Amino acid sequence: MHKLVAGTPSKVSELMARIRSKGNETTELKFVRMLRQRRIWGWRRHAKIAGTPDVVFPKIKLAVFLDGCFWHGCPRCYRPPKTNAQYWIPKIARNKARDAMVTAKLKEKGWRVLRFWECGLDEKTVTLRLRKMLKSKMPLVGHNQ
Ligand SMILES: [Zn+2]
Repeated sequence: MHKLVAGTPSKVSELMARIRSKGNETTELKFVRMLRQRRIWGWRRHAKIAGTPDVVFPKIKLAVFLDGCFWHGCPRCYRPPKTNAQYWIPKIARNKARDAMVTAKLKEKGWRVLRFWECGLDEKTVTLRLRKMLKSKMPLVGHNQ
């Protein structure tokens, strides 16, 4: 029954896990934990703006999306499933198109948008990219920098 992708069993179960974790809760919790560890404040989750970003910094109008590699078609790790390709390929394409639309919509309204791939969610990348955005506009609480 494991014919979803040609690959090692671990790859298959990894993919299955991604399909199940539709809400991407673990990725989000990992990200939020990083923010707390780095003493980065001023954010909240699930703001009701276009695309419902995972995290927003309302004061500086910065929206952060954590994109699951499978659902959003990560160029580094996404491989279209061989089974039901006629279902998955257009579905992922629609997700990507919606991501682009949401980004455009938010930018139009004066938001800045950061997107992280699930696979690129290491602390160094996240901190560097966030710092760049936050530095000019918001003092960071905490003085261990
Ligand atoms: Zn990826």
